[in-house]
Amino acid sequence: MKKLVIAVILVLAVFTHAMSQDLPKASIVMAAKTRNVTIYSVVAPPEMFSNTTHIIELPHQLILVDGQFFAPYAWQAKALADSLKKPITHFYISHDHPDHYIGFGDAFPDAPVYALEETKKGIEKEGLATLKKRQEQFKGVIAKSLNVPTHVQKAGKEVIDGVTFIFEKSLNNEAAVSLVIKIPEAKAYIAQDIVYNKTHLFISGNMDGWRNALKKVESESNYTLILPGHGIPCDRSVLKEDLKYLDFVDKTLAESTSKEEYKSKLLATYPTYGGDHLIDIYLAYYLKKDWAIK
Ligand SMILES: [Zn+2]
Repeated sequence: MKKLVIAVILVLAVFTHAMSQDLPKASIVMAAKTRNVTIYSVVAPPEMFSNTTHIIELPHQLILVDGQFFAPYAWQAKALADSLKKPITHFYISHDHPDHYIGFGDAFPDAPVYALEETKKGIEKEGLATLKKRQEQFKGVIAKSLNVPTHVQKAGKEVIDGVTFIFEKSLNNEAAVSLVIKIPEAKAYIAQDIVYNKTHLFISGNMDGWRNALKKVESESNYTLILPGHGIPCDRSVLKEDLKYLDFVDKTLAESTSKEEYKSKLLATYPTYGGDHLIDIYLAYYLKKDWAIK
């Protein structure tokens, strides 16, 4: 435990150091281009958790999904959005975990923010306190302000600027409640944190619920482009990889008698995955296990 606390402090030290240096930049990927829809994904670097912001360009407007943890990556998304010269009409927040909503308040102060009712309430309750805590921890890489959801997004089908969007509520996956957005024209499934691509999955709660959510994505084989909450957009093979990762986590949790042992097994099996520090964070603060019992 002591070692892990030191590891987390070290992580903070690295970030504090990084603030005084030039931060690594996010990757920008064009994930889809159809007649009416172009999708760009801004993906934070692996050492900064690989959080995604998707910019969906429609004929006359832009739609954004998720707002980053670290403010510089929201500013990168803002620069890209500005270059497209269309108004932002909807900024969706997929769920109420801070790595998806505390980053964009300064870069997008006026964007109309939409979320499921539960997510909106969660951010209203915890958002400001969480922002303050992260400002103290990470200083200048955290936004100064929050842009909280003011619009409730309901499940259902909507046509926006001539393009069909399908909104769904997913329960008990990586988060308790999350918004899934599907765009049939682009065969795009915006799964956010139901899917992690080549990034360590953030383990804190309901693993079976998460598996079910992944299997639901698997069952909808007409969607060939999967947009994750962490990692670059990808094809459907990510779904099997994530299911396998969850099985490996279950097995390794059962076999490990310390956090250090568990983490080292994950790193050995997934040496190319980004987001190592996500493991430190969930082990320190979220995942509950009696490590003495095998
Ligand atoms: Zn996340």
